[in-house]
Amino acid sequence: MSNYFYNLLKIFMINKISNTGFNFDNSYIELPPEFYSPANLQPVKSPQLVILNNELSNSLGLNTDFLKSQEGIYIMSGNIKIPDGAYISQAYAGHQFGGFTMLGDGRALLIGEQITPSNQRFDIQLKGSGRTPYSRNGDGRAVLGPMLREYIISEAMHGLKIPTTRSLSVISTGENVYRETIQQGAILTRVASSHIRFGTFEYAAYMLDYEKLKKLSDYTIKRHFPFLENNENKYINLLDEVIKLQASLVAKWQSVGFIHGVLNTDNMSICGETIDYGPCAFMDVYNPDTVFSSIDTNGRYAYKNQIAIVNWNLYRLAETLLPLINSDENKAIEIAQNSLSKFINLATSNLSHEMCSKIGIFEPKTSDIDLLNELLNMMQKYKEDYTNTFIALTFNDLPQKGMFISEEFINWKKKWEETLTLQNKSKDEVFDLMKNSNPAVIPRNHRVEEALSAANNRDFSVMNNLLKALSNPFEHSEFQKEYAKLPSTPQCNYRTYCGT
Ligand code: AMP
Ligand code: MG
Repeated sequence: MSNYFYNLLKIFMINKISNTGFNFDNSYIELPPEFYSPANLQPVKSPQLVILNNELSNSLGLNTDFLKSQEGIYIMSGNIKIPDGAYISQAYAGHQFGGFTMLGDGRALLIGEQITPSNQRFDIQLKGSGRTPYSRNGDGRAVLGPMLREYIISEAMHGLKIPTTRSLSVISTGENVYRETIQQGAILTRVASSHIRFGTFEYAAYMLDYEKLKKLSDYTIKRHFPFLENNENKYINLLDEVIKLQASLVAKWQSVGFIHGVLNTDNMSICGETIDYGPCAFMDVYNPDTVFSSIDTNGRYAYKNQIAIVNWNLYRLAETLLPLINSDENKAIEIAQNSLSKFINLATSNLSHEMCSKIGIFEPKTSDIDLLNELLNMMQKYKEDYTNTFIALTFNDLPQKGMFISEEFINWKKKWEETLTLQNKSKDEVFDLMKNSNPAVIPRNHRVEEALSAANNRDFSVMNNLLKALSNPFEHSEFQKEYAKLPSTPQCNYRTYCGT
């Protein structure tokens, strides 16, 4: 049977299955056509389910059994269409490492906007689904290792209670993908509150016109910030809301030692979710200069620079909104500057709260922040592990070596304990705060690599156990202890790669 008739038959079959759970309402296609391109399906040879996120599937209202069926797998591999799907690739631009460029979904397509049983709206997108009009020289495909890496790290972020896009499934395609070596192809199904990026605004502002920029802004307000809709100054309010979300997000990244790796404006979501897991990683030893990405040779996106870079990116977003903020450009700049000037203080204050709660302090004062910085400086000096130092303090289970036996640490600990007693909080309250602020596990690089290398040989048990440990990092269970251990040889030169 020809592919065409085969697909028609499949669509007919899906129509017959009434309980797929898909409940699409595709609003993005109501934007002007320049914002997207219709995507052609590019069926793959032999799609197989590698992993399905049952919990996410349930919360989206999808029928998990259907997703596991041949038809479900065909939908998640882009072999067949779901009726009522959107099937578009989105256009966007962005500043990559400081330079402006036209981008777009070069290897992704939005299959639809799912309305969940609790009436929330989520984009369901295939990543690695083939070439699109935005593919430039790329093949539109993705590789098994990096897609599983995105699955693991995004789900770990969710467990850490950090806003993030999520991963519904990974399908192996049965096709080769040609990179430096021949790799197994895969497609990730990504779930996001939306895929509107700072770069979507840059595209509208610099490649389209005022009316289309206004349409995108109104759409974004309606979708993510409906409480602004009737405001007189809703466009500056939009910027203010994004500033708040990003100030909260970056502080959370810092507090768990997460380094995004490519904080280009196209990788910044307007709704404050972590998006585009490329060369990201978590640091083991505390060192603010940490960079993992192989292409970030100047450390632009190093751990210590993330707040400043998000600030820079917010300036790029604000520039796009100027014509909407005020018709007098100077006035618009003044208004936007006023909003932007609040970001660094807000992010820093959020960070102080996040970090001080890691040492049991509820309302940080300047002296508490000094105390925290003293600890961080010592951790850097003695090359202590970031996550495990806070766990040791939480459970008062201090290793008898390194920083912990130094005189400076012993003095610091005395000061810290005195500070805690001045807080008017019980020991239990302090312990609970620390337990809920310090994850027992993070996706350590050696564990992620170990899971991916087993998965490459089609052993998925290592990854499944890792995911189990990461699903609730604040549980502090026995099972998680194994995953808190450091690599036997320190991974000083761990390198990550993007676009793979
Ligand atoms: P990323 O580094 O994943 O944020 O991607 C940057 C840009 O490159 C985006 O426009 C992607 O869609 C595009 N891109 C990445 N990998 C591929 C690929 N294999 N084929 C086509 N486009 C790609
Ligand atoms: Mg990207």
